[in-house]
Amino acid sequence: MDFIRYAEASAALLNAELADRDDLVATLPARDWLHDQATDRDATVLRRFQRELRPVFEASDTDDVRGVIDGLNGLMEKYPITPMISDHDPSDLHLHVATRAATVSELLIGEALLGLATLVCDLGPTRLGVCAEARCTDVYVDTSPNQSRRYCSDRCSSRANVAAYRARQKSAV
Ligand SMILES: [Zn+2]
Ligand SMILES: [Zn+2]
Repeated sequence: MDFIRYAEASAALLNAELADRDDLVATLPARDWLHDQATDRDATVLRRFQRELRPVFEASDTDDVRGVIDGLNGLMEKYPITPMISDHDPSDLHLHVATRAATVSELLIGEALLGLATLVCDLGPTRLGVCAEARCTDVYVDTSPNQSRRYCSDRCSSRANVAAYRARQKSAV
C-alpha cells in the first residue's frame, strides 16, 4: 500500500461509524485476514482516535500548518509506529506498518499516521479538509493536481451545487 492510499484510508476511518467490531469489520472489506482479530475494544480505541485525529483535518482545512504538524507529531508520539520496508513488489519498495503482534486498532492507527505524515511531507500540509457541504462533517484527502477539492464525495458536491443553484434562482426572483 502506498502512502496516499494509507492517507485516504485514514479519512475513511475517520468518517466511519464504529459502534462495535461488526462496524469495524465492515470498513475492511478487502482485508479479510483482519476480520477475526477485530474486537469491540478495537472499535473503542478507534473511536477515541477519530476524536484525536479530526483536529488535524480541521487545522489543514483552515491552512493552520502549525496545527497540522504539531497534531500529527503529538499523535505519533502517543501511538509509536514500527515501519517496515515491504518487498511484496520488488520493483516498488515501500513502507508498511509492521503487523507483528499488533492489534487491528494499532495497525490502522499506525497506517493512518504513517500515511498522513508522509503525505504532509511530500504534498504539503494543507491537503486535508472537511467537506464544504453545509450538512456534512466528513473529511477527505485532496490528491488533485491543482488542490481544488472541497467535498468528501461526488454526492456532496452535487448537493452543494443544487443548493447554490436554488439560492441563485431565489435571489433572481
Ligand atoms: Zn504494499
Ligand atoms: Zn460531504
